[in-house]
Amino acid sequence: MPMSFEDLFEEIKRQYDILNLVSQYVKLKRVGKNYVGLCPFHAEKTPSFTVNPEKQIFKCFGCGASGDVISFYMKIKGLDFRSALLELAERAGLEIKTLPFKEKKRERELVELNFKVAKIYQNFLHTHPLGDKARDYLKKRGLSEETWENFFLGYAPPEGRVLAGLLRASQFDMEQAIEAGLLKKMDDGSYLDLFRDRLVIPILNEKGECVGFAGRALSPDVEPKYLNSPETRLFKKSEILYGLFQSKEFIKKERSLYLVEGYFDYLSLWEREIKNVVATCGTALTERHVQKICSYAEDIYLLFDGDKAGKKAALRAISLFSKKNRLPQVISLPSEEDPDSFVQKFTKEQSEQLKEKLKELTLSAPAFAYHTLKHEFPSHPSKVFQELVELFSEIDDPLLEQEVCRELAFYLELPEGDIRRSLRKNKKSQPIQDKTSHMEEIKKEEGFLKIIAQYLVNYPEEIPSLEEVGLRKLLENFEEGPYQRFLLQLLELKPKEESQILSIPSPDFQELLSDLLFSPPFEDKKEVQEQIKRFIFLERKKREIKKIAESIKFFEKTGKREEIERILFSIKKAMTYKEISEI
Ligand SMILES: [Zn+2]
Repeated sequence: MPMSFEDLFEEIKRQYDILNLVSQYVKLKRVGKNYVGLCPFHAEKTPSFTVNPEKQIFKCFGCGASGDVISFYMKIKGLDFRSALLELAERAGLEIKTLPFKEKKRERELVELNFKVAKIYQNFLHTHPLGDKARDYLKKRGLSEETWENFFLGYAPPEGRVLAGLLRASQFDMEQAIEAGLLKKMDDGSYLDLFRDRLVIPILNEKGECVGFAGRALSPDVEPKYLNSPETRLFKKSEILYGLFQSKEFIKKERSLYLVEGYFDYLSLWEREIKNVVATCGTALTERHVQKICSYAEDIYLLFDGDKAGKKAALRAISLFSKKNRLPQVISLPSEEDPDSFVQKFTKEQSEQLKEKLKELTLSAPAFAYHTLKHEFPSHPSKVFQELVELFSEIDDPLLEQEVCRELAFYLELPEGDIRRSLRKNKKSQPIQDKTSHMEEIKKEEGFLKIIAQYLVNYPEEIPSLEEVGLRKLLENFEEGPYQRFLLQLLELKPKEESQILSIPSPDFQELLSDLLFSPPFEDKKEVQEQIKRFIFLERKKREIKKIAESIKFFEKTGKREEIERILFSIKKAMTYKEISEI
């Protein structure tokens, strides 16, 4: 019988003996109740890799690797949790019709269907009687057949029943085509193609899987100009960057990237041998896009439309990038141009001249922002200043901040120090100078959470007594971290004994757990318990007082005298706990 994900996890733990599995990869020798060997995860000459068969866990005292039988398999085979479970299940001959695997299969089928559809449309571009309309369009936009092929460009005929007919004839799952948004089911039970009389642009994810489509209208009076296939599990417009699959090797080689907003902006650049490009898919730039772009390229060039909307989009992009401590450069096109029209002025052979021209038009982010805002608010210097501060204040890399301050000081003719102060005052997050001490504090607190975790793993029967003094409340207000999550999971489970803890199906949890179980037990349980209770109490008070201090600050700003008095009263009340004096 097929089993659930949790059942599968437990079943695998039952089926596999860690000693047995590890022995297939590591030569082990018995020492007391443990087995030791040379660690497979780091180079060593004396064995520090230890397996405890009684608890079915391992730990390396050299590199710190630890976990259960599944984490070992994940690490040694370089697999993620799901794939490791799947492989182990297959090796043990377990039937695996669990949901996550079913989903994976469905995703594969969806990609397959999309590729099939892309091929069908690609074929129509060359063979359909009306395909010449699309071919003329592509030629008019200066794209060579090589580029059509490279990007699987296609043509969807106007009839509206063509794709449906072909898919049915080759026995494809019609429901799946509906899920992918390629067909619509009509009231009379027939199917209608989504794309009709459109140029079809398949959209590939970075792995090269076809996950969606865009359709460009070929007649000027048809709305919308671009039609996207709907969002699916695989096609998320807020994440996907058009062309990344084809461009990534060029981006890596050049270590730089041009970001454009349209499919044809992308294709025109590609046609002219500028291949380190990506485009957003008919949607505004998101943080996820920015994250991905930053992970691929060092130098980022924004190449947006020259009009007001394009400039506004560039300012927005600058703000998104500066939150990630990166500043793009902006290629500022004349207001009547878009990247496609601009690039069209150059032939394929003039690619070097084009690159030169783009370089000439490139501005640093502060320069672009200053000129754009000054143009927008010509008689409002303070508005320009405020907008600039908004734009760059989230930067918290001191060197980058300095660079921005220096440049803005030049344009605004103000002292650098004034600008720095304004940027820092406007920061929504922690100011730079406080950040390290804050981090250290969190680290210290994390250390204490580890002690609590170690304590509860050894004495699960004490969970209720710590809940009573407010452990759960504290954890819920605590900064997110591995031990914070670990403890919340533990409280959720309320285990009566160790074996129950060992069956929580999360690799992160099991990794911390194995580590904790290998730590030596406490010498004086009673004393540790007292310390833990004290820590919980003090931490909760500290957080309460911080909240009160924040309210006071707020009411001071808004000048509400009676509110402040009310708060002072509540502090006095809190002070009656005598421990408060020690904070
Ligand atoms: Zn090791």
